[in-house]
Amino acid sequence: MRFSSILVGAAFTLLAGASFMATAQTPPSKVQAGGLDPETFLPPAPAWSGASEKLVVPATHKWITPSEKTGLTATPTYDETVAFLKKIDKASALVRVETFATTPQGRKLVDVVVTKDGETLDPAKPVFLIQAGIHSGEIDGKDAGLMLIRDICFNGRDDLIDKVNIVFVPVFNADGHERSTPYSRPNQRGPVSQGWRNTAQNLNLNRDYMKADAPEMIGLLGLIAKYDPSFYIDLHVTDGMDYQYDITYGFDGWDGLYADSPAIGAWLDKTYRPKADAALKAAGHIPGPLIFARDEFDLSKGLDFNAFAPRFSNPYGDLRRLPAVLVENHSLKPYRQRVLGTYVLLEATLKALASDGKSLKVAIASDRALRPKIVDANWQTKAAPIATWDFLTIKSEQVASPASGAMVTRWNGKPGPVVKTPVYGSEPGAKLSIPKAYWIPATKPDVIARLKAHGVAMEAIKKAQTVEVDMIRLGGFKTSAPSEGHVPVVATGLTHETRKETYPPGSVRVSTDQSLGALAAYLLEPESEDSFFAWGFFDEILQRVEYMEPYAIAPMAERMLANDPKLTAEFEKRLKDDEAFAASPLRRLQFFYERSPFYDDRYLLYPVGREVN
Ligand SMILES: [Zn+2]
Repeated sequence: MRFSSILVGAAFTLLAGASFMATAQTPPSKVQAGGLDPETFLPPAPAWSGASEKLVVPATHKWITPSEKTGLTATPTYDETVAFLKKIDKASALVRVETFATTPQGRKLVDVVVTKDGETLDPAKPVFLIQAGIHSGEIDGKDAGLMLIRDICFNGRDDLIDKVNIVFVPVFNADGHERSTPYSRPNQRGPVSQGWRNTAQNLNLNRDYMKADAPEMIGLLGLIAKYDPSFYIDLHVTDGMDYQYDITYGFDGWDGLYADSPAIGAWLDKTYRPKADAALKAAGHIPGPLIFARDEFDLSKGLDFNAFAPRFSNPYGDLRRLPAVLVENHSLKPYRQRVLGTYVLLEATLKALASDGKSLKVAIASDRALRPKIVDANWQTKAAPIATWDFLTIKSEQVASPASGAMVTRWNGKPGPVVKTPVYGSEPGAKLSIPKAYWIPATKPDVIARLKAHGVAMEAIKKAQTVEVDMIRLGGFKTSAPSEGHVPVVATGLTHETRKETYPPGSVRVSTDQSLGALAAYLLEPESEDSFFAWGFFDEILQRVEYMEPYAIAPMAERMLANDPKLTAEFEKRLKDDEAFAASPLRRLQFFYERSPFYDDRYLLYPVGREVN
C-alpha cells in the first residue's frame, strides 16, 4: 500500500512508538502486549474457499514451501527463503539464483532466473520480472513465487516457461524484511510476523524509483537494464477500508487513463486485464481495481483513481515504456487466500505473456519509438468525478466508540450491496516541454550517475565545450517538510534565458532522441515534482555568495540612474507601485545591486542547459 488516509496514517503514528519499544528490547509476546491479537480487533474475514486451494501441496511433498508447512499462515526469514531457492537451484536445471545488490546492512539481494535452460534468457521470449517485498511486511508475493517456481521445477508446470523467461525478486527490501514482528502491519491479517515497510536507511523503496538513493534501487535498475523485462509486477498489500475484493491491481492505461506509454497501456487494459480477471474469478477470487476511498467510513464521498508520480513503481514503468502492474492484495483477507490469489495472478500473467507476448512486443516497440514534445507531470485531483464504479461492499454498521467519543464503522464480514460510487481522477498540474538535449555539467556527478543507473544514454565530452543553451532561472523557491531523506524544493517564477555555457570535460549531453527521453525530462526539468531539483540535488544554487556594502551601492546607483533612462523608468515605476519597497532603503539599494555586474550571476540559475536548436 502506498497511500493512506489521515486516519490510517494516525494509526501508524500511534503504533510507531510501540514498535520502537519492541525492537529496542525483546519483542513482547501478544499476552505481554495486552492480548492485542489483531483477530480480536480486525473486522472478521468473510468465509472463503476457491479452486486455488488445490495449489497447496500435501504435507508429505518433498518440495513443500516453508509457508505451506504452516498452512500459509507464516512466512520464512530472508535466509530461509534464499536457502530454499538455492536448494531448488541445486536440484533443478531450470533455475539460477544470482545476486543483484547488497543492502545497507550487508545482505545479498537475490533474484532467481527461471528459464528452459536454467542459465540464460531466451531473447525471443518476453521477460517477466516479478518483484515481491518492496514493502516487506506485504510479503504475499514471496510465498506465492516460491510455490510457483516449485511447481515449474518439480510439479510438471514447466510449460509455463515454454514461451516466457522469469526473473523473480523474492524480497526487494531484505533489511526491512528482517525487522520482523507481529506488530508491523496492524491492519493486515497475517502472516504471523511481518517485516517493516522501509529499508534500514528508513527509505521507502516505493518512493525511490526516480531519485534512486537506495542501493537496493540501484540494483533493481541494473536488473531492469540487464534483462529489459517485457512485464514488471510489483506485489503489495493494502491498508484501508473493508470490501469484497481480495486481489486489486492497476496500471497506467486503466480505462485509457494516464498512460505515457499508450500502446502498452492499451495492451494492459484490453488484453491483460480481462485474462487476469477471468483467471482470478475462475479460481474463486474477487479481482478489483486499486481502491483509495476518500472517506473509508463514507463511500458516498467516492473513490480516488489518481495518476501517481513516477517515484512509484507502475507510473515509473509507464514513463520508461516498461509494462508495469501494481498489485495490492486486500489486507483484511487471510494470508492464505492472498498468497493463493497472487499465485493465480502470476500464473495468468505467464499465460498472457505466452499467448499475447507478440502483440505486447509490438506495443512496447511502438511506445519506445515515441518522441513526445511534452510530458504531463505534477498530477492534481480533478474536481468533477470521471466515472462511476459498481463497488462490492462489505456490510457495515455505525457503532459508538467510547475510545473515539464518536461513531465508527464496523464491518461484519458479510457481503453488502453493490454501491454506485463516484470516482475522481487527476489532471496534469504541469506540462514539461522536452528539449532536444540536456547538458549536465561535470560538477553534478551524482545526477549523472543516477541518470546512468536509469539506463539513460548520454555522451560525455572529453574537452571543454561552449554551447548555446536555454537555461532556467528561478524567481524563488519553497521547501517543505523532510521526506525520504530530502527536503523537497518547489521552484517558482521560472524564466528562461539563452546563454553561452562552457561545459568542462566530463560533462554530458543527454539527447532526448531516445526511448527514455521523457524520463530524462521528468528528472531534469526543475518544475517536475520528481526531478532531481525537486528532491534537493541542486540546493547549492539556492544560496547567494558575495555581497556589496550599501555605502558602495548608493553612489553606484546614482551613476546607473544617470546613465540608463530605461532603468530609471523601471525604478520610478517600482517606487510608485510598491510602497514597502519605496520605504525600504535596503531593498532600494538591492534593486541596483541585482542589476549590476557585481551581482552573483549564477544565483538561482539551474545549471543544466537545455539544447533547443
Ligand atoms: Zn505497499
